[in-house]
Amino acid sequence: MPVASPAQYAAMLDAAQKGGYAYPAVNITSLITINGALKGFADRKSDGIIQVSMGGGKFASGIGGADEVLGSIILAEATHKLAEKYDILIGLHTDHCQPGKVDSYLRPLIAETARRRAAGLPNLFQSHMLDASELPLKENMVLSKELLEICAENEIILEVEAGVVGGEEDGVDHSDAPAEKLYTTPEDMLYVYETLNGIGRYMFAATFGNVHGSYKPGAVKLRPDILKQGQQAVMDKYGAAAEFDLVFHGGSGTPEHQLRETLAYGVVKMNIDTDTQYAFTRPIVDHMFKNYDGVLKLDGEVGIKKLYDPRSYLKAAETAVGERMSQACDDLLSTGKTIFGTV
Ligand SMILES: [Zn+2]
Repeated sequence: MPVASPAQYAAMLDAAQKGGYAYPAVNITSLITINGALKGFADRKSDGIIQVSMGGGKFASGIGGADEVLGSIILAEATHKLAEKYDILIGLHTDHCQPGKVDSYLRPLIAETARRRAAGLPNLFQSHMLDASELPLKENMVLSKELLEICAENEIILEVEAGVVGGEEDGVDHSDAPAEKLYTTPEDMLYVYETLNGIGRYMFAATFGNVHGSYKPGAVKLRPDILKQGQQAVMDKYGAAAEFDLVFHGGSGTPEHQLRETLAYGVVKMNIDTDTQYAFTRPIVDHMFKNYDGVLKLDGEVGIKKLYDPRSYLKAAETAVGERMSQACDDLLSTGKTIFGTV
């Protein structure tokens, strides 16, 4: 059962926290990206996290009747089945869900897992993200707490966010966020701990200048020390066991030394989307440019069927996604650390 059970998923996060490594969390939108990511993790004997955004779910449900819940369920079910052939563990997660989408996206997915559990079936997703960072922290935590209670009843881990991840992703644009919102303060981190501690297991996307998207060197002012300060404040007051399981959003394009620094401060999950999107598209562009005369029917010619068969270039895209995920495992030090078969 290589999609992790709740106990296995918790053990994965514990192992990463203890071992000073993190899991790449890749946004998938199709069977091709799922297969690429699974192979990429398996090639490195690394456990990993496969996640679906609301936009990804909507895309997967087809343009004829876009339904982000249905698409997310389909991608998750496909992952459950496809992951079975690998000797690694996979956590299934959903990405940013803003407060306005909680009733139409998050609650139906949690209800779907509750329905499956009642029928004796495994959880659909192991964790979900609630991103209520657009609200003042107090209101954010009221909603986070309520959802964490529901998640805990179903052995689901909830990812919460305080502060704002800059940049643009999935149609949500925070490019104009005020600078101070990009860095979560130790006071805010304490408040998150004090609100959520003891209710259920959660992960925390504290922000430290991280942004979605890809930028030229120097454009992003990452301050991993922000995470260190927040963790220290919480542990000074509540002891070492209070250390947060942190999530790093916008990992694409981050220099290796900064990735590694965050691992020392309790990051156990790093989201990677932009770099995987590029990895997917790059070989397709190569295929089209190299085979221009074959993929098109030019000047009365008939083209070359094996070159315009979508499998020819989508296989290359799948391979490239896998290679990018393998690289992420190396970067985040999860390579060789699967706990499959031990928990
Ligand atoms: Zn994000």
